[in-house]
Amino acid sequence: MILEKDLGKRKNKKNRKEKKGRKEEKEFEAERQGLINSLNEFGISKPVLAAMHRVPRQEFVPPFLREVAYVDTPLEIGYNQTISAPHMVAIMCELLELAEGQKVLEIGAGSGYNAAVMAELLGKGKKKGQIYSIERLKPLFEFAKANLKRTGYKNVTLLLEDGSLGAPAFAPFDRIAVTCTAPKVPKPLLEQLKPGGLMVIPIGDYFQELVLIKKDKNGRISREGKGRVVFVPLIGKYGFKNA
Ligand code: SAM
Repeated sequence: MILEKDLGKRKNKKNRKEKKGRKEEKEFEAERQGLINSLNEFGISKPVLAAMHRVPRQEFVPPFLREVAYVDTPLEIGYNQTISAPHMVAIMCELLELAEGQKVLEIGAGSGYNAAVMAELLGKGKKKGQIYSIERLKPLFEFAKANLKRTGYKNVTLLLEDGSLGAPAFAPFDRIAVTCTAPKVPKPLLEQLKPGGLMVIPIGDYFQELVLIKKDKNGRISREGKGRVVFVPLIGKYGFKNA
């Protein structure tokens, strides 16, 4: 039998939990704003900053790291993998010139955070674009899926595959973001990039460089180095062979 006084206790407990949640969200909001302010030094544009402001990074890290979700650093997400540092996500989004309606391929879904930020930049409603994000590790594929579902991102399709092969069934892509480092640019990714398309990809092993690849209207490829970076390896047929 449930007594009236017990119902009262339960209600109070629920209220306390809701209040705590609201307080936590307020604190996160302040920390998120602080992080966005600090990204100014990287010359990030307003649309990218606004997109990052809308994504709750604390929902994309393991529970024990929620407190430090807005420190501008990569954080572990298990299986020797990381969610990238916010400034790196911002720089990659900036270089890709993301816009409403584009079709984007991401290699390395990890936590799903980068995909969520990109989704914010692809528009809303009928005109919104679509992201295909590939992850090779099943537990991280499930982690990203749960995080994106909880935070309400519906235009991200997750695929459990070797991303070095791209996603031929959904190609060609306007943009490709590779969030793990490759020994060289995987041929299938170059083939699956649309003429006029852009790709960002870290290249190298110990010494890595972020490379911006452009495919012009005639299919000619050019590449520009964008600075030293540190990423986990792309493991797969067109990547590194061992974990
Ligand atoms: N974008 C992620 C985020 O927002 O959390 C961070 C990605 S983490 C730096 C790199 C990810 O690439 C890891 O989750 C790793 O398992 C994945 N990865 C490595 N090789 C891969 C491959 N061949 N195909 C798909 N994912 C791969």
